[in-house]
Amino acid sequence: MSGLTASFAMPAAENPTVAVMDAVFAHHGLNARYINCEVAPEALGGAVRGALAMGFIGFNCSLPHKVKVIEFLDELAPSASIIGAVNCVVIKGGRLIGENTDGKGFVESLRTVVDPAGKDLVIFGAGGAARAIAVESALAGASHITIVNTTASRGQDLVDRINVDTPATATFVHWDHNFEIPDTTEIVVNATSVGLFPDVDSRLNIDPNSLRPSMVVADVIPNPPRTRLLADAADRGCTTIDGMGMLVNQGRVAIKLWTGVDVDGQVMRRTLQELFT
Ligand code: NDP
Repeated sequence: MSGLTASFAMPAAENPTVAVMDAVFAHHGLNARYINCEVAPEALGGAVRGALAMGFIGFNCSLPHKVKVIEFLDELAPSASIIGAVNCVVIKGGRLIGENTDGKGFVESLRTVVDPAGKDLVIFGAGGAARAIAVESALAGASHITIVNTTASRGQDLVDRINVDTPATATFVHWDHNFEIPDTTEIVVNATSVGLFPDVDSRLNIDPNSLRPSMVVADVIPNPPRTRLLADAADRGCTTIDGMGMLVNQGRVAIKLWTGVDVDGQVMRRTLQELFT
């Protein structure tokens, strides 16, 4: 090895993603490590400059850094720019490029059962996950997207982004009532935090009888993978997709961006299943 090296010791924060990344790096013999660091909001700029200085190939950022990190980057990928949030940074040739792999991971997971191109979607939620899913589905050719959200301003803002910045059309429904899913809907997505452990018995404020066998129903909640929504949908004959698929695939997309390697999602999924059961 040439040049100077330095070794750093740091406290590692608990995060299931570390185990998943380590397992898949080992499976493919990739000489890479994934570490998790707690970064205070006021230290974010220093942390980003540190990653560049230490020769990192990239990093993920979670809440509350997904928007703030943008001011420290050199460039944004097109979908990250429309979504307005970055969960993955790629460092190439000394440049910091902001990506959003959440929506890409969702679409990859969705494509295992249906291609969103030409489809009508109903998406519950208008937060970070919903924005990423709606924008990537629209860029993947979705025909129409209905955003259903309890806070009207957030929902309308997302609808405006889709209508202005993507080829899809979108409409907003204010979620102040028990929502009946229109029977022309082909793909239904829960992108709210309803159902996330430990609130596993929470249900969306929808009429479950409006779920039809022709619909594909996807949930972003990775833990537990079988949410009330997915159980209700399966009972009515719908095809279901759990949030573990999105979680695995957003990681696969990130590794591909960092290393160029297509890794095995099954190894990642098995590791997650062990952690979540
Ligand atoms: P945000 O806080 O940005 O958004 C939360 C959304 O959920 C908002 O639209 C909010 O509505 C809505 N919401 C919360 N509680 C309720 C409720 N009781 N009834 C109706 N709507 C509700 O969070 P994120 O978008 O970042 O994350 C949402 C979920 O997605 C989390 O559970 C997270 O774990 C999961 N996720 C999964 C990923 C995966 O890879 N599987 C990746 C990223 C996230 P309002 O706007 O009205 O407040």
